[in-house]
Amino acid sequence: MNNNGEIYDLVILGGGPAGLSAGLYAMRAVLSTILVERATPGGQVAITKDVENYPGLDEITGLDLSDKLLQHAQSYGLEVIQDEAVSIDPGPDLHSVILGSGKILKAHAVIIATGGAPRKLGVPGESEFIGRGVSYCAKCDGFFFQDRVVTVVGGGDTAIEEALYLSKLASKVYLVHRRSGFRASKILQKRIHESSVELVLNSAVTQIYANEDGVHSIVVNELLTGEQRTIETEGVFIFVGLMPNNRIVPAGIILDSAGYAVTDEKCATRIPGIYIAGDLKTKFAKQIVVAAAEGCTAALAAADYIDQKKNIMGIFDTRSRVIKPQSVSPEDLRTGPQASITGDPTH
Ligand code: NAP
Repeated sequence: MNNNGEIYDLVILGGGPAGLSAGLYAMRAVLSTILVERATPGGQVAITKDVENYPGLDEITGLDLSDKLLQHAQSYGLEVIQDEAVSIDPGPDLHSVILGSGKILKAHAVIIATGGAPRKLGVPGESEFIGRGVSYCAKCDGFFFQDRVVTVVGGGDTAIEEALYLSKLASKVYLVHRRSGFRASKILQKRIHESSVELVLNSAVTQIYANEDGVHSIVVNELLTGEQRTIETEGVFIFVGLMPNNRIVPAGIILDSAGYAVTDEKCATRIPGIYIAGDLKTKFAKQIVVAAAEGCTAALAAADYIDQKKNIMGIFDTRSRVIKPQSVSPEDLRTGPQASITGDPTH
């Protein structure tokens, strides 16, 4: 319930591009909406140095793009609160979102857009030395490594982009990748080959060492020969992909083998009124523009669902939203598009 004891039409969880785009479209659909973000809005984009492939924007910093997405949604009156969603209790009528503060938000629909968190390498020294040389954010921590030797781990877009960024600050950058081929886009591969970054390919970091001053070296295993090599480095920036933030996804929603949520083309799950958008959703291209598009889709689908639900229940909105009579039965809502998703719930 909101501060006036009202029930929300829509609760959005996560303030990245998917959540903020959902917020924009929800407000334009005149849904009473609240967005819950545990940190600063922007998600992974906010910690990205530069974004070069958001259509219509030649180049923009991740922080500026996050700010623009937030301001745009808030210009339509989106309510944004800082809190953490700890669980979702789906109800036959309203869904309840339980927040870390103890607050409970009740809503007709929920969009889960909680994205992902950096995957860990899982090697000795990694967890122990976070903040003392081990980092998952070049933009946040790169400054501390000016004129120092740093190592980036990974071969995807993030690793290459951040290695290129660090090469402008650090005295030397190593890029350690477990294969000889990169997953990153061709344009980034070209740039890394033309840069000063030293590539350490077919290799895996097996140990990170530090002393009281922080990280000083890593051990790298050459995977084809089994040879071990020590690289002296003061920073280890790890970009080996994302793990989906699926902890609050209610039981009954299908997750794929990697933990990403499966939805239909409307971002709808098997639970009526619960939608998933952004990096938490399984997809081919994890791009900002795709996350934003999914936020739009989920919000429009939620608006349609809420309209139908209120129409059936005879609830007429006190706001400006016009609810057109439609011939749908409660059975339609219960077994609506979500019911077309097949497969076994994996949790
Ligand atoms: P990613 O594309 O999943 O790449 C992860 C990289 O880490 C891969 O090179 C992978 O190696 C490696 N890796 C995974 N687990 C590892 C382990 N345990 N040890 C060592 N290496 C490991 O992740 P990402 O770069 O974070 O990108 C995530 C998504 O966001 C992608 O879809 C990407 O295209 C997108 N993105 C786009 C942009 C952009 O368009 N500007 C920027 C950033 C991210 P293998 O290749 O051998 O599997």
